[in-house]
Amino acid sequence: MKKVLLAGNWKMHKTLSEVKAYFEKFLKDLETIDLSAKEIMIAPPFTALAYSRKLTEGSPIKLGAQNACWEEKGAFTGEVSPLMLKELGVEYVIVGHSERRHIFGETNELVGKRAEGVFRFGLTPILCVGETLEERQQNKTLEVIKSQLEAGLNGIKEVGGRDLVIAYEPVWAIGTGITATPEQAEEVHGFIRDFLSGLYGKEKAETIRILYGGSVTPENIESLIKQPNIDGVLVGGASLDPDKFLKICAVA
Ligand code: PGA
Repeated sequence: MKKVLLAGNWKMHKTLSEVKAYFEKFLKDLETIDLSAKEIMIAPPFTALAYSRKLTEGSPIKLGAQNACWEEKGAFTGEVSPLMLKELGVEYVIVGHSERRHIFGETNELVGKRAEGVFRFGLTPILCVGETLEERQQNKTLEVIKSQLEAGLNGIKEVGGRDLVIAYEPVWAIGTGITATPEQAEEVHGFIRDFLSGLYGKEKAETIRILYGGSVTPENIESLIKQPNIDGVLVGGASLDPDKFLKICAVA
């Protein structure tokens, strides 16, 4: 059965003492919800991965990283390899987040290299795609998503029995408090599903989870998750607060 994936992206937030306080609260409250059809992932900054693993050991929480290089090791100052992340118990890696693309200039091709590397090392990439407001206003949304998917998945020719996740995050909805309507999100999710069918076959495409991200809150999660092609959410701001993230996990 395809489980709903509820993923928290902490971005550049939380010192170790804040991480400790968060998990103390979140883990206790998590026991109150039924997780049989849900998977929960949290992606702390690199500096808090090992500690987060220690604190969440034996809990249902899966660990994610916010980026990764495609090489095992070498002269790549400032980068972290998928092997290093695997050693820490990381299972998911976010690649091509809009902040990586827009603040740090990561191109579609670079994102594709990261996704391929993460996949090759046996981790699950969460490939983020999404259009800017200007692109949406110019009716270029689907065209932009298509080129991001083409380049982003260029190195992943076959998925086999492996896991792969796509996150649709309209840039205009990230951290702005403006959420895509369920209909707007579903339109793009349906398009992504069709694209995946073309690439990997219909049967496999059905198993690939497509997350929505962009100002997800405990208030709007219900209407989003009801959509047939929304298989989970990638949550930024609201995942920083254990109460809010728990509510999202409970309602989804
Ligand atoms: P947001 O961020 O929930 O704060 O809008 C989502 C994301 O960037 O993944």
